[in-house]
Amino acid sequence: MDCVFCKIISGEIPSRKVYEDDMMLAFYDIEPAAPVHVVMIPKAHIESVDALTEENIAYVTHIFSKVSEIAKSVGLKDGYRVVTNCGPDGGQTVFHIHFHLMGGKTLGKMA
Ligand code: 5GP
Ligand code: ZN
Repeated sequence: MDCVFCKIISGEIPSRKVYEDDMMLAFYDIEPAAPVHVVMIPKAHIESVDALTEENIAYVTHIFSKVSEIAKSVGLKDGYRVVTNCGPDGGQTVFHIHFHLMGGKTLGKMA
């Protein structure tokens, strides 16, 4: 499958990993939008929030259960923002669901 994030999971494309287990991977964004910018993805090709169902939602639950631990491990001690973009109008560019974990400064208002 021609998916950048599936290739990062398989190791075909290298990444700076910050956390990995059997259900998810977290790695530094190649084009950071904040001083600390990590991308958290499930190890299943789910396109976006729009493709979430009762059957695959466990991946998202799992990712969110690890956010606090991952945030601490990358030094985000004073808060952070978690964002997911969905579809063209939402600004999604990689169509494998992912959650941006951003911080390292006081972030501005949402768009
Ligand atoms: P989106 O725009 O879909 O919400 O987020 C996709 C994110 O993936 C972008 O922030 C982009 O910089 C990041 N990204 C795209 N390709 C790669 C890659 O090959 N490696 C890493 N580490 N990040 C990537
Ligand atoms: Zn994928």
